[in-house]
Amino acid sequence: MSMEALIYNIQHFSLHDGPGIRTTVFLKGCSLRCAWCHNPESIDNRIQMLYDEKKCIGCGACIQVCSNGAQLAGPEGLHLFCADQCMHCTECAQVCYAGAMEQCGYIKSAEQVLEEVLRDKTLYQTSGGGVTFSGGEPLLQADFVAEAAKQLQAEGIPTAIDTALNVPWDSVEKALPYAELFLVDVKMADCQKHKKYTGAGNDRILQNLYRLAEYKPLYIRIPVIGGVNDTEEEMANIVKLLLPVRASIKQINLLTYHDFGIEKGRRFAKEMQRFAVPTDAQMQSFSKQFQSVCESVLID
Ligand code: SF4
Ligand code: SF4
Ligand code: SF4
Repeated sequence: MSMEALIYNIQHFSLHDGPGIRTTVFLKGCSLRCAWCHNPESIDNRIQMLYDEKKCIGCGACIQVCSNGAQLAGPEGLHLFCADQCMHCTECAQVCYAGAMEQCGYIKSAEQVLEEVLRDKTLYQTSGGGVTFSGGEPLLQADFVAEAAKQLQAEGIPTAIDTALNVPWDSVEKALPYAELFLVDVKMADCQKHKKYTGAGNDRILQNLYRLAEYKPLYIRIPVIGGVNDTEEEMANIVKLLLPVRASIKQINLLTYHDFGIEKGRRFAKEMQRFAVPTDAQMQSFSKQFQSVCESVLID
């Protein structure tokens, strides 16, 4: 039987998830809880419903089909979605013709995913691209990722895995023979601070990083978050962490914080913290710090 995974998006023509033109498969579920997460809908490992108030025309169709009291008529013809009452049956999305209720997360088989990503095979070949598995944390569904990457390898298509590495090494190991590149998030050096902002310390992440560097080329992705890690001292500490594995690091991406996650969180009643956006001058300065690790440092 074909392996299945919970997937919330498949993005074609992606230019930021590895070399060349890529298709990025986003798996749902994450083992971290980063306070700044720009895809908060990716964290929960269940199907969820997202509500876009701006699209709602107040037709009431969702209220008729919801047997859990999660869809309510508000005052003056307004409609209210109570995310905490929702049992994720998805029926409201099927009757919401305005597209205000949206299902986030679909069970897909490896065959279905392969069929979709193989449509762009020629594009991967001409651009030096391939397929990237991202999330959430794709290695929480490592058997699926390994199986899909194995089939892509048989088709001659390179696979990258975009991971925060907060998983058992066994999960990394499953995908190792089939992935050509790993994009690894490194968020901060101090373990306690890492725990405060992401819900987990970074001991296991760093152990996995050092081990992984023995096998595969790495792109390191560092989110730069105002008031959290946007100081020269913090960046210098990350530089120190990376120097021992510099031979494996082919690119560093500094990811400037943006607040898109706040609006996305609102769509399922999750309040996300707002952080300051680092300035261009800060990002340029941090970029210079990382050039001692890798010649290719990009600011995204
Ligand atoms: S079905 Fe859609 S458009 Fe109609 S009230 Fe519900 S959310 Fe709004
Ligand atoms: S998905 Fe949630 S809100 Fe929609 S009908 Fe089912 S229980 Fe009600
Ligand atoms: S690791 Fe990525 S997906 Fe997971 S919570 Fe952090 S930012 Fe979000």
